Amino acid sequence: MDYKKYISVVSDFPIEGIRFKDITSLMMDGEVYKKAMDDIAEYAKDKQIDVIVGPEARGFIVGCPVAYTLGLGFVPVRKAGKLPREVIKVDYGLEYGKDVLTMHKDAIKPGQRVLITDDLLATGGTIEATIKLVEELGGVVAGIAFMIELTYLDGRNKLSGYDIFTLTQY
Ligand code: 5GP
Repeated sequence: MDYKKYISVVSDFPIEGIRFKDITSLMMDGEVYKKAMDDIAEYAKDKQIDVIVGPEARGFIVGCPVAYTLGLGFVPVRKAGKLPREVIKVDYGLEYGKDVLTMHKDAIKPGQRVLITDDLLATGGTIEATIKLVEELGGVVAGIAFMIELTYLDGRNKLSGYDIFTLTQY
């Protein structure tokens, strides 16, 4: 499937100079969205995954359908103040300043095999922080799947040692 045909590239969003990859146009086509999620489920199906973890908000768009397809649970990673029960936290660097990601403390049991999902791999900072949360709880990151990889930002290098799958690359 040529997924690029369905991804819109929007110039100067959210700020000047960025060419934003918009997956909402792909998601509008039920057949293509299903095929994308099925391709990621196919990648994950022989990895003995116990649970899927995805950062808000677009990590849910990928992680939840794949979790449903494989009959697995889904754990949301959210910004500070959004999850209602006891959480663990990690600071992570943004282009300007810092932010915090959180996960429920009881979300992953030691030794559980985790698939991490997000829509897009850019610098890898978001997923690096998500990995820290998973590993702090004793989870084993068995794979990481994205719809899109921006190869020129070299996020793969930041995540070296992990198994990474992407549907399409720019
Ligand atoms: P990273 O942490 O790898 O630098 O950035 C990836 C995160 O930023 C992802 O959670 C992704 O949703 C968001 N992101 C950055 N650039 C884009 C883009 O061009 N399109 C989309 N859909 N998300 C982006």
